[in-house]
Amino acid sequence: MTPFRVRILGSNSSQASFGRFLPSHLLTVDNKSYLIDCGEGTQFQMTKYKIKRNRIQAVFISHLHGDHLFGLPGFLSSFHHFNRYEALRIFGPPGIKQFINVCLDASFAHLGYSLYIHEITENDVPSLIFEDNKIEVFAFPLKHRVPTIGFRFNEKVPKLNIKPDAIERYRLSVDQVKELKSGRNVILSDGNVLTIQEACFEKAIARSYAYVSDTVYDESIVEHIKEVDLLFHETTYIHDLVNDARDRMHSTTKEAAEIAKKAKVKKLIIGHYSSRYADITPFESECKEIFPDSHMGVDGYVFDIIK
Ligand SMILES: [Zn+2]
Ligand SMILES: [Zn+2]
Repeated sequence: MTPFRVRILGSNSSQASFGRFLPSHLLTVDNKSYLIDCGEGTQFQMTKYKIKRNRIQAVFISHLHGDHLFGLPGFLSSFHHFNRYEALRIFGPPGIKQFINVCLDASFAHLGYSLYIHEITENDVPSLIFEDNKIEVFAFPLKHRVPTIGFRFNEKVPKLNIKPDAIERYRLSVDQVKELKSGRNVILSDGNVLTIQEACFEKAIARSYAYVSDTVYDESIVEHIKEVDLLFHETTYIHDLVNDARDRMHSTTKEAAEIAKKAKVKKLIIGHYSSRYADITPFESECKEIFPDSHMGVDGYVFDIIK
């Protein structure tokens, strides 16, 4: 089975501390990768974890707070060391174009590849914002102090393949083959039903990942992340600081776990820890009280989805 893997490159919020860098995740689907947020130090982590940067197709920035963004200028301008020529797409809230252009212009950066920057406004969400032959990406609104976007990545699965001997054995017409490839049973000339299970190879099951950072507790997120295989939801604080979380428009452990439970996701990863915490183990145990399949996201950790 082709890989569908999330690697945590940074798991802290606001500033790097206790060995934890700033938010950045890398999703790899087969031989393509997608970068989600790019906090300061992301390049350092890419080198440490031997990430193949030229495989990155697109970058998705959740919002313009510096902890999610300040790694981007360095990441974009150092591609010439890796001989990148392939175009790169960047998605983020309004203002991201200005930020990138100012940084690149002021530092006399020369890019050897085309950069396409897409600003996602409030009116654009929820919607499909990107697709290639591996994934489709949906953006949806989050509630934070500044415009913020969540992302859902759905794997595309190939159409069904007909078994080589089926066409002759069942004397299938071109239209019947098309029907079967689309996942529908067909009626044969003798009146019998030919099922897709009989005529086709087994269909791969699509995998999915959702990234929710930063946000206050918000049940309207649930419909956008329903039943994903893997959910990342920010947990800036453990639950005793729920009032601080509300004031700063962040979430606590129990709130993230509640959202995971309501959305019936398969697995929850947590992160975006406040710099006040040296020991983050209580985060996982608090989440597990509500959603047992909760896991700490820590720099370098890898989560593979295998179906
Ligand atoms: Zn943040
Ligand atoms: Zn923020």
